[in-house]
Amino acid sequence: MLDKLEQTAIKNNIPIMSKDGINYLINFIKENKVKTILEIGTAIGYSAIKMAFIDPEIKIVTIERDQNRYNEAIVNVKEFGLEKQIDVILADALEIDITSKFDLVFIDAAKAQYIKFFEKFKHNLNKHGIIVSDNLNFHGLVNSDKTDLSRNLRNLVLKIEKYIQFLENNIEFKTKFINIGDGISISRKDDEDEN
Ligand code: SAH
Ligand code: MG
Repeated sequence: MLDKLEQTAIKNNIPIMSKDGINYLINFIKENKVKTILEIGTAIGYSAIKMAFIDPEIKIVTIERDQNRYNEAIVNVKEFGLEKQIDVILADALEIDITSKFDLVFIDAAKAQYIKFFEKFKHNLNKHGIIVSDNLNFHGLVNSDKTDLSRNLRNLVLKIEKYIQFLENNIEFKTKFINIGDGISISRKDDEDEN
C-alpha cells in the first residue's frame, strides 16, 4: 500500500522523501528514541506515515498549507488507520502557533523559508530536541555552477546555500550534514552552556 503512495507522489510530481533519505531518518528516530515529531510539509502524508509505522507510541503533528494535498493526506492517514498517531493541520506553518514541544522537528517545506522555519520551531523543541532538514543538496544544484539555471531556481538554490551557512555558523545548535537522499542536516542544541 505504501508503494501505491510512492507511485501516486511520483506521478503527480509531489516531492516526497527519497527512499534512502526516509530510511536514514527512520533509523535515526529509532536510535534516538524519538517519540514526538513536528513535521513542516506533509504533502500527501508519505513521510509522516512511514515515521508513524516505526512505533505505535510515536505521535506526529504535521502541517500542510495546500488544501488538495492536505485532503489527500487526511485520506491516506485514515486508510492506514493512523489517525491516533498523526495529526494533520491545514495551515501555513509560518502563520500558525504551535504550543506543544517535540523531540524532533522535521523541516521539509518551502526551501526558501528554511531559516524562518528553524528560528520559529526551535522553540517547540524539548530539551535535547533535534531539528532535521531535508533537500539540502537540492537535486545536486547546491554548490554547483548556477549560470544555466533560471533566475527563480538560482535564487532558491542560493537560499539553501544561505541556510547551510546559517547552520554552520549557528552557536546554539551543532549541525551534521549527511549526504544521503537529497541531503539531510541534523541540528542538535549544544548542551555545553545549558547547565
Ligand atoms: N514530507 C513530505 C514531502 C513534503 S513536500 C514527504 O516526504 O512525504 C513539501 C510540502 O510542503 C508541499 O506539499 C508544500 O505544499 C508544503 N509547504 C511548503 N511551504 C509550506 C508552509 N509554509 N507551510 C506549510 N506547508 C508548506
Ligand atoms: Mg524533501
